[in-house]
Amino acid sequence: MAWDIVIAGGGFGGFYAARRLERVLPHQSARVRLVTAENFLLYTPLLPGAAAGTLEPRHVVVPIREELSRTDIILGRVTGADPALSQVSLTTIDGREEALRYDQLIVAFGSVSRGPARAGACSARPGFKTIADAIALRNRAPVNLEIAESLDDRDQRREYLTFVFVGAGYAGLEGIAELQDYVADVIDRYPRRRLDGTCWILVEALDRVMPEIAPSLADFATRELRARGN
Ligand SMILES: Cc1cc2nc3c(=O)[nH]c(=O)nc-3n(C[C@H](O)[C@H](O)[C@H](O)COP(=O)(O)OP(=O)(O)OC[C@H]3O[C@@H](n4cnc5c(N)ncnc54)[C@H](O)[C@@H]3O)c2cc1C
Repeated sequence: MAWDIVIAGGGFGGFYAARRLERVLPHQSARVRLVTAENFLLYTPLLPGAAAGTLEPRHVVVPIREELSRTDIILGRVTGADPALSQVSLTTIDGREEALRYDQLIVAFGSVSRGPARAGACSARPGFKTIADAIALRNRAPVNLEIAESLDDRDQRREYLTFVFVGAGYAGLEGIAELQDYVADVIDRYPRRRLDGTCWILVEALDRVMPEIAPSLADFATRELRARGN
């Protein structure tokens, strides 16, 4: 009897697990089911481009069904698991509660952005992990410029012209740089903003940016950002 393999989460981990299994498992040897909240793989390295409008949102996602032909794709959210029964429970996108039995379970839910230490400090602000986050950021910049342009009070204008990114990892750094490029491209259309300038602040708890890469490259990135006035 074929093995039942359930993959929970369709991001990089889950998607590539399914793709690899399709390649290595003999036909009919296993049933692979992928439970995922979206029917696309978000290609996160291109997310800053979507936030800055240099890329269309549809160009930073890969439709999962186009890439996986032998995997059963189930759209929904995994809500729990019972290892004793070898079973995961899920809610499908149309709200049905279901249970899936498995012989092997691959858990690949990804991570969530860490929240601010002080409750409420940034709770209403967009994160930078999903396509919706990127679109929200892309929309926020021109709206802020429009509001600032309409205000007579210089201090009030400054509030809308100050952009704060929290977290100087790869995503934060690329995000601030791309958004700054976008604003630089449209700046001439906003005479008052030209007068006041924008303010870009990158906040990081560690003593360096991008702990995930070599210090020499991180230093280079810091110098580049400082040269832009950040
Ligand atoms: C802006 C940005 C840029 C990045 N750039 C790079 C880069 O250049 N190079 C690099 O190596 N890494 C980069 N990363 C990091 C990289 O995206 C992550 O390391 C990678 O996505 C982790 O893969 P994952 O499968 O663990 O999680 P994810 O890719 O986050 O996938 C998790 C999936 O599980 C789904 N899910 C979550 N909960 C449930 C549930 N209950 N039920 C069903 N589905 C669920 C989610 O919807 C998602 O589809 C970047 C990240 C960001 C945010």
